[in-house]
Amino acid sequence: MNIAELVKNAGVVGAGGAGFPTHIKLQAKVDTVIVNGAECEPLLRCDQQIMDFYAERVVRGLQLAVESTGAKNGIIALKEKYHKAIESLNRTIAQLHNRTISLHLLDNFYPAGDEFVLVYEVTGKIIPESGLPLNVGIVVNNAVTLMNIANAVDEKPVTDRPLTVCGAVKNPFTAFFPIGTSVSEIINFAGGPNLAEYVILDGGPMMGIIIPEKSSITKKTSGILVLPSDSEVVYQKTNRHAVKQIKSACEQCQDCTEICPRFLLGHELECHKIQRSTSVGLQDNITQAFMCCECGLCDWICPVKLLPRRVNQESKKLLFKQGVENPHHKTPTAVHPMMDYRRVPIERVLGRLDLIKYDKPAPFTDKKFDISKVAIPLHQNVGVPAESIVKMGDVVKKGQLIAKIPDGKLSANIHASIDGKITEINSSIKIER
Ligand code: SF4
Ligand code: SF4
Repeated sequence: MNIAELVKNAGVVGAGGAGFPTHIKLQAKVDTVIVNGAECEPLLRCDQQIMDFYAERVVRGLQLAVESTGAKNGIIALKEKYHKAIESLNRTIAQLHNRTISLHLLDNFYPAGDEFVLVYEVTGKIIPESGLPLNVGIVVNNAVTLMNIANAVDEKPVTDRPLTVCGAVKNPFTAFFPIGTSVSEIINFAGGPNLAEYVILDGGPMMGIIIPEKSSITKKTSGILVLPSDSEVVYQKTNRHAVKQIKSACEQCQDCTEICPRFLLGHELECHKIQRSTSVGLQDNITQAFMCCECGLCDWICPVKLLPRRVNQESKKLLFKQGVENPHHKTPTAVHPMMDYRRVPIERVLGRLDLIKYDKPAPFTDKKFDISKVAIPLHQNVGVPAESIVKMGDVVKKGQLIAKIPDGKLSANIHASIDGKITEINSSIKIER
């Protein structure tokens, strides 16, 4: 069986948040494989510690990805400040005597882990508007995905997920949990929330999404962040009047455009023009929203606290609903001359969002937590949900296939993450000991 087939069997999907089925990426033919180890979301400490504690797995996964894609080289891109990970990875690479694998060190800015930004930082290549790394001969995989590729080839399916639990909890930490573990249970292992009114985010403060306490983790959950209900981050994600406020208060200062990482890469995405068109009800410029990666820097910088990212999200939804095609596919020839000077340091992101108090270590533990029930979502990937192949009352073992890719569809296999009995099957499969 080839590498991509083993990875398909093991149910590997992009662990950085997108959830694209990895076996598809491994079937491409490219020049370079980049490991995204930037972990640019403030407060999360997962990937950087995986690259330290599981350096051998990450490097092995990269070798396999290089082999599968026929790439000439593999580059692990991580921040210069991840000293322990750099040391562990360098040691592992030196032992391999493999000259095709190397490290690329990044500054500590947001969004260093955005694929378009990362590809430019590492190779100097600019991905076309609305394009993919593949358009410039590159495949990008998250560090945890690479670890999962190495495990898949050893016939170990994806059953557990490393993540950081942080923010307003008593003891932030990083550990593996069975996929489907309840979020509230994980927060309790961190000593519980240390305030009465809070919300929970799946992911970091910039791109994470608010989730209910009763939800469970997926293959894509890199962090669980607890924040006060009245924090700036929560306001940005929940304000229901974002569009109305843009219409009445956008002063066209252009700050949202000048900070935008896609604009700085030379893409014709001028965020202030989308806001202007929204304000006066014009269609012109609205399609630029297709190019927005929703990094949130425009919300972060707007001097009058408007939420242009939210407007872009709404615009995209409307355009999809209307069946409007994305007309933006140009390839820029050069980045903006100020690009290097407009990288936003993580400290500034944290400062403006009043999150510095949560910028604490979240040390990795390899402790195995006693999880007695899980609810494993059938849809954890780009594409369609997996199809259950178990029935109520079945007794399953950890690692057993319980849902598979529907014939001919883009999806990902799912495996039991604990031993137990199937007690419910709907959009999730529940297993109880
Ligand atoms: S930064 Fe705010 S005020 Fe300035 S153009 Fe953008 S949305 Fe309008
Ligand atoms: S969220 Fe804002 S800053 Fe980020 S890509 Fe979209 S328009 Fe640009």
